[in-house]
Amino acid sequence: MSIEVGTLGATGMVGQQFIALLANHPWFKVAWLGASERSAGKAYRDAAAWRLPNPLADEVARMKVDEATPGRAPKLVFSGLDSSVAGEIEGAFAQRGHVIVSNSRNYRMEADVPLLIPEVNADHLALLKTQGARGWTGRIVTNPNCVVIVYAMALAPLRQFGLKTSIITTLQAISGAGYPGVPSWDILGNVVPFIGGGEEEKIETETNKILGTLKNGTIENHPLTVSAAVTRVPVHNGHTGSIAVALEQQPDPEAMIAAWNAFRGKPQELGLPSAPTQPIVYLTEPNRPQPALDANRDGGMTVTVGRLRRCPVLDYKFVALGHNTIRGAAGAAILNAELMHREGLL
Ligand code: NAP
Repeated sequence: MSIEVGTLGATGMVGQQFIALLANHPWFKVAWLGASERSAGKAYRDAAAWRLPNPLADEVARMKVDEATPGRAPKLVFSGLDSSVAGEIEGAFAQRGHVIVSNSRNYRMEADVPLLIPEVNADHLALLKTQGARGWTGRIVTNPNCVVIVYAMALAPLRQFGLKTSIITTLQAISGAGYPGVPSWDILGNVVPFIGGGEEEKIETETNKILGTLKNGTIENHPLTVSAAVTRVPVHNGHTGSIAVALEQQPDPEAMIAAWNAFRGKPQELGLPSAPTQPIVYLTEPNRPQPALDANRDGGMTVTVGRLRRCPVLDYKFVALGHNTIRGAAGAAILNAELMHREGLL
């Protein structure tokens, strides 16, 4: 089976990760590449500053980059577009019948758009039925912000204990800022306590939608209160979150660790090609998880958690880590599309 797919924003950091992850995909084959007018008309190898350790396949390297206009792309299009243009372009593609599986923030909080983590809220795909009201023949599905994916996955197994309040302080990799991203002068030997584009607000709102409940065709947000503080650190790949939670029940730490390790979802049940066998792994070593050691676990699709201990302010604190351009972006979108394919939504 081979389903042709397109990639919008193909030349960017997330776009490159799409190309790398799709290179040997059993179902999807890259057949179209779109980017800005700066790249359009060039061969992909000349348009993209390839920044990944995986070699770029010759077949893709020779493909010509197209303008980001709908019509010539296959029906299924992954998007890693810059958010300054994603709203308009993705909307135009959906209008023309494309199914857009997007990383950008523009549609994430729209009431009729699924903000999907297949292990956590696969049932939110039901929102797609209501998108027809926009007059679109296509559809848009989004994946969350790269921190939110890690955070919401770590919190999802704790819902059974009654999530009340949570505080997260992030340590985010430079690959999260795209390429060329943060100037070396600003980041080397430094920590930057600010990430633009509403990063903290995204964490404080998207998490509640993802953990929310589908009722009568809409999402009722989870009532958890979140406070986020974000920092950029000199790490290549892997966003780390130092997290504290207050819970209604008082589980013992063993029950929380068991909940993380036992957590499975639709992708594992269906055996989707990009699904990690164990989506959350609790590491018992006192100094883990670490981005340099743990971000690439299971192809970068596993979230690692560690350092669970009592918190004197809230109830518990722990550390969670995930690969920001794989589990937090391109890998997440590919897993979304795999689920949609198996659910007959493509
Ligand atoms: P990036 O490296 O800056 O890439 C941006 C892409 O958008 C490039 O392909 C660029 O094409 C294209 N683009 C820019 N302006 C355009 C225009 N006017 N028309 C058409 N295409 C245009 O950014 P990134 O880090 O890959 O992020 C892409 C998106 O994913 C963003 O919305 C970001 O917030 C989101 N995201 C990123 C991460 C991460 O960890 N990096 C994680 C989750 C979500 P040219 O090369 O031709 O300029």
